[in-house]
Amino acid sequence: MATPGLSTIATDITRLDVDAIVNAANETLLGGGGVDGAIHRAAGPGLLAECRLLGGCPTGEARITRGYYLKARHVIHTVGPVWHGGSRGEDELLASCYRNSLALARQHALTSLAFPAISTGVYRFPLERAARIAVRTVAGSCSPDMSVIFACFGEEALAVYRRELAALS
Ligand code: ADP
Repeated sequence: MATPGLSTIATDITRLDVDAIVNAANETLLGGGGVDGAIHRAAGPGLLAECRLLGGCPTGEARITRGYYLKARHVIHTVGPVWHGGSRGEDELLASCYRNSLALARQHALTSLAFPAISTGVYRFPLERAARIAVRTVAGSCSPDMSVIFACFGEEALAVYRRELAALS
């Protein structure tokens, strides 16, 4: 049985009607490819204008903006680590992304959240290892009233997340 509050679906994260979707951003917070580009396209130019005011974000940290044209009310931007083989603190930095995003959600009284598979695209973090860190970190640090969706881009990622969620209980 899965842990209450945590679920996974295959979807384009930009379509979700939640308090906040999390963006796998880069340190500039000025947009990029992958999920970052998709979120900026769907949110419209107001998002980039607000991001310009933030002055970037170090790897492992998170920042919050409004959601503009998204159904999601907010976007939490976090910067995952680039994978360099695993010996440069990548695991801990990735876990920090999830913890800091959840902490921001709590500070803003947000209770429904969706995460993409941070760092597993252009940043090349191995998917299974990233999913294990994502699921275990969120299970260990989300509040009981929070519902968290792991938004997978495709069936392969979905199968990996399902396994990790099942392994929690
Ligand atoms: P990073 O630079 O952190 O690796 P990417 O955007 O390249 O970020 O990829 C992160 C993950 O987001 C990948 O698993 C990718 O398949 C997934 N992804 C890309 N577009 C979307 C989307 N619209 N919704 C959900 N996940 C997405």
